[in-house]
Amino acid sequence: IDPVDSLVHALRRAVAEVPDRAFLAYFDGRLTYREVDELSDSVAGHLAARGLERGDRVAIVLQNSPHFVIALLGAWKAGAIVVPVNPMYKAGEVGHVLRDGEVAALVCSDRAWESYLREAAADSPVRIVLTACELDFQTRGDARVLAFERLSSAADADDLTAVARAGHQAPAGRDAGPSDLALISYTSGTSGTPKGATNTHGNIMCNAERQRLGLALPEAPVYFALAPLFHITGMVCELGACLDSAGLLVLAYRFEAGVVLDAFAEHRPHYTVGPSTAFMALAAHPAVTREHFSSFRNISSGGAPLPPALVEKFRAGFGPYIRNGYGLTECTAPCASVPPQLEAPVDPVSGTLAVGVPGPDTVVRIVDEQGAEVPFGEQGEIVVQGPQVVPGYWRRPDATAETFPDGELRTGDIGFMDPQGWLYVVDRKKDMINASGFKVWPREVEDVLYTHPAVREAAVVGVPDGYRGETVKAYISLRPGAETDPDDLAAYCKERLAAYKYPRQVEILPDLPKTASGKILRRELRSQVDGR
Ligand code: ATP
Repeated sequence: IDPVDSLVHALRRAVAEVPDRAFLAYFDGRLTYREVDELSDSVAGHLAARGLERGDRVAIVLQNSPHFVIALLGAWKAGAIVVPVNPMYKAGEVGHVLRDGEVAALVCSDRAWESYLREAAADSPVRIVLTACELDFQTRGDARVLAFERLSSAADADDLTAVARAGHQAPAGRDAGPSDLALISYTSGTSGTPKGATNTHGNIMCNAERQRLGLALPEAPVYFALAPLFHITGMVCELGACLDSAGLLVLAYRFEAGVVLDAFAEHRPHYTVGPSTAFMALAAHPAVTREHFSSFRNISSGGAPLPPALVEKFRAGFGPYIRNGYGLTECTAPCASVPPQLEAPVDPVSGTLAVGVPGPDTVVRIVDEQGAEVPFGEQGEIVVQGPQVVPGYWRRPDATAETFPDGELRTGDIGFMDPQGWLYVVDRKKDMINASGFKVWPREVEDVLYTHPAVREAAVVGVPDGYRGETVKAYISLRPGAETDPDDLAAYCKERLAAYKYPRQVEILPDLPKTASGKILRRELRSQVDGR
């Protein structure tokens, strides 16, 4: 396969070679490469006719549906920069993104438009609105609707499906090059107000291609989109790698364990990637069997810590080995991953699972507070340089200078590297707990909690303590039917961790708060305690 400059070029290459191969599967519907090409051409033609110019921003607020992919490719064909927005954002958060990104066109579901996005867009530069009727698996019941068929009904917006079916020509001369901006990806906000990382087409192709080459899947591979496409992991490792290998991408609206397992049985995917919490939910589902995973050649976890106990439980229960991968929005998804022929080692001292080795042309260094490199095995901040690192944040020169000094990405994550080149992520710098002057990294405590048979999810935070300054508190959700209590969990950790590390407080909740991409929100748990 010859390398291409952008995912639009990858689409054209697939259309030239395998036009009638299925590209998207969505419940009962399928669209071929040729169909997606024509539908996205028409969207591009419509946007250009409505006055959208090269470099204008198009926000997409959709779940994993064909509408997302068609809107994305259509916007790129019109020369736009796409702003993927988390559909879980509230009106105020979307409003911030629409204004901050100076967004000209908005694509969203008709329901979201009616219920809150019309209001969010009122005070913004948005002048073109396309609404889509996405199939919602919760309402499919008997009326299973074919993919990309139903029209939406908003009176003051154009319907995306109708526009895509209108047969408009894509405008000429709008093709992007590798250094043009493809996306403004607002970070999910686990560390504060979302900032827009500016991913170029070159950044995306670099990681999509690496993913394709690293996975070594069969001809016409089947990808299952477990991670949301609006998040960089889904965009690059699922859609990007799939498009680059002319594979089939199975979409299922949004994560719901039962629906995902049905789709695994029906489509027999070769590959998927998601946050570790998705694998925990699949493993805990009452209907799950080994058979559901028998078609997979590869499974990766990325974007959130992967507890080693989960990898072992998963392998013993279902067969596949979950491959770790480390990345950030600011480096367009992975910068380190576990090569297919290897398994990640576990650090004997901390019990942390390695996240992988840096990709080709990627330099990962561990530095101290002064920016000097530290020796192997010593902890410091992870900094990354490579072709997947974004040029900066959208219209934030100060934040860009701070996070990307000399073009190198300061990740804000603490980690270390072993002499073989394996990278380990200890935790986020700002999540460190200071208990009587002792450093406690929540991850280490969580990894121990995950070895307890009753624990489904664990999140550890620092809470104010009159005596120690801060003390360790664990929030837990339990596996279905499991029984334990806070004292048992605290005692379990006390047996396995130094006295200053075990959680003095344990609270059991039905579920832990998560971002739409599946990360547990420690920030939200902390704010429940003290309003921080
Ligand atoms: P924000 O930047 O607003 O806080 P976010 O953290 O969700 O949002 P992302 O770019 O989605 O932004 O997440 C990147 C972070 O996820 C990394 O900095 C790291 O802390 C964490 N992470 C990613 N992969 C792994 C991994 N394999 N193991 C541990 N942590 C990981």
